[in-house]
Amino acid sequence: MKEKIKEFIFQKKERWEDVARFIWENPELGHQEYKAQKVLVELLEELGFRVEKGTAGLETAFWAEAGDKKNGPTIAFLAEYDALPGLGHACGHNLIGVMSVAAAAALREVLPLDSGRIVVIGTPAEETDGGKVTMVARGAFSEVDIALMAHPSSSYQKSGSSLALEAIQFDFYGRSSHASAAPEEGLNALDALVNMYNSISTLRQQVPDGARIHGIIARGGEAANMIPEHTRAQYYLRAPELDQLADLKEKVIKCAEGGALAAGCRVEISNYEMGYAPLRSNQELNEIFENNLTFLGVDREEIEISLTKGSVDIGDVSQVVPAIHPSIKIMDEPYPGHTREFAQATKSPRAMEGMLIGAVALAFTGFDYLTSPSIQKKVKEEFDREKEKTSG
Ligand SMILES: [Zn+2]
Ligand SMILES: [Zn+2]
Repeated sequence: MKEKIKEFIFQKKERWEDVARFIWENPELGHQEYKAQKVLVELLEELGFRVEKGTAGLETAFWAEAGDKKNGPTIAFLAEYDALPGLGHACGHNLIGVMSVAAAAALREVLPLDSGRIVVIGTPAEETDGGKVTMVARGAFSEVDIALMAHPSSSYQKSGSSLALEAIQFDFYGRSSHASAAPEEGLNALDALVNMYNSISTLRQQVPDGARIHGIIARGGEAANMIPEHTRAQYYLRAPELDQLADLKEKVIKCAEGGALAAGCRVEISNYEMGYAPLRSNQELNEIFENNLTFLGVDREEIEISLTKGSVDIGDVSQVVPAIHPSIKIMDEPYPGHTREFAQATKSPRAMEGMLIGAVALAFTGFDYLTSPSIQKKVKEEFDREKEKTSG
């Protein structure tokens, strides 16, 4: 049956490529992906899926399904389709959406109807405020058993880990006064901020391996002859685990409070963007995906361990259902993501080839899962075990 899956995907090659190129030519930022949503939804309907838009209250999200949840597990292929400001599809999300749709459609085509439910979830705004984070929080994954997707890259990579992230804003409030005529009347909110900045810089020596603290002064005062009365810093805190992140946050807040205290100011602390949970890749699914890639002719030696030092919104998904986020090679040059070169590469014939391989490997992985109760059991057991570890 795997031969049939591959055949189905390769036969419709031009249809997939047209959609991926259309999304590339019409780049849209997070939460504005109306054209991409429309073209993917039309494609899914044409392929026999029932589709609803606006999932979890996000206008440009969607949920497409085939089969019945009463008959077996629900597997979800995740579709991203947002672009980057000024760069267009420099992260290759034009390929992700289509890859997931093609994989789901192939399974719908070859599997008997009673195998389970095949879903494609359109997850907007990966690059801005992490649509998946909101979707997880609003229960969009409550009926999902596993979530699969693959990301374009300059190499093949196993699904790895990512860092948990929290975006914290510090607003310091003091009192303005003439900086030369009456400095003693003022309370300097910039001093408070700089105190915090320096304290955080010394804190860096005492943070766990892999943790990151990086920030900017978003507001430093109005004019040099006025004691600044309001200043603002924005930071990202990152750590491999959520408990480490909580610990880091507590320490950073102490730096802020200490900085404010020393300058006689007040500090307000808030989140200015969505936080991300770390990616916990399901190793059972990872292995199945890797075997399928090698079955398709990819050299096992060529599949690297992922060394992501960033944060991705599938992290939150992976905390509630077993998930993988491997990388698919779509170019022969080593261009990093979010560059003009990468954007050019994501519409090339080479990228389209990579997209097909990714779609077939995803479909094979879904096939292996849906047709094997023992794999289903192993995936779930691993997920429960890992969850127990981090919550205990
Ligand atoms: Zn990106
Ligand atoms: Zn991306």
